[in-house]
Amino acid sequence: MKNILITGGSRGIGRAAAIQAGRRGWSVGINYAGNEAAAHDTAKAVQAASGKAVVIKGDIAREADVIAMFDAVEKAFGKLDGFVNNAGIAAPNAALADMPLERLKRIFDVNVLGATLCAREAVRRMAKSRGGKGGSIVNISSVAARLGAPNTFVDYAASKGAIDSLTIGLSKEVGPEGIRVNAIRPGVIETEIHASAGMPDRARQIGAGAPLGRAGTAEEVAEAIVWLLDDASSYVSGAILDVSGGR
Ligand code: NAP
Repeated sequence: MKNILITGGSRGIGRAAAIQAGRRGWSVGINYAGNEAAAHDTAKAVQAASGKAVVIKGDIAREADVIAMFDAVEKAFGKLDGFVNNAGIAAPNAALADMPLERLKRIFDVNVLGATLCAREAVRRMAKSRGGKGGSIVNISSVAARLGAPNTFVDYAASKGAIDSLTIGLSKEVGPEGIRVNAIRPGVIETEIHASAGMPDRARQIGAGAPLGRAGTAEEVAEAIVWLLDDASSYVSGAILDVSGGR
């Protein structure tokens, strides 16, 4: 039995991870930003899979929301064992020269500031020296961090590069606190993020060029997430795992 929190746990990769955690009988905090119906639907799926679920609204780019989200999940289930730093956004294809300030601010506010605030809060709750139990943090990066995404979204790629660096540094910082920190770099995965960024066919188009010849599924990424949360990966920390079909 584990208590975990997943940011952006309502849809896509986060939802798939929530349901797989539910199959293990874990208690899952499902954070979302705006789509309440999707969050409740995922909560029902987690319960149907034999887990417990609580739905928590909050924008990870807002510090007060982040603190309230961690408070809410601990109030519902007790001290945390695992945290999935998953919520993230992308924007339409563009060259950097054409990206307006508002776009850049939102990408970095959510993907870097938000994820870093969430990681900080997870450490505050899990660190043994602060009364926590230790635990596992799984950061969701992207293969864009090493491919760079030229003429597509170098802003997003750079934001995910920051997640890789955060993972490396934080794993060294909090290992002595009993906290493992790892990252997953998904390749192109079939979720709604592509349509949200104005590219509904992206997964199919880019996926065809992967060595495995297809886009991945949210479930395939979720398998790796749940393994990194679980005790089966107890000596894995500071790792960055590509789940990208060889891309
Ligand atoms: P998705 O299907 O678009 O789902 C995004 C989730 O994040 C939703 O639950 C959404 O909640 C939530 N969210 C968005 N902004 C938020 C905010 N500011 N605060 C809290 N929650 C927020 O995305 P996905 O494809 O599953 O992506 C999940 C992660 O994987 C992201 O970090 C993404 O960068 C990364 N990734 C995805 C792919 C891919 O091809 N799909 C590839 C590499 C990496 P609402 O529904 O309420 O908005």
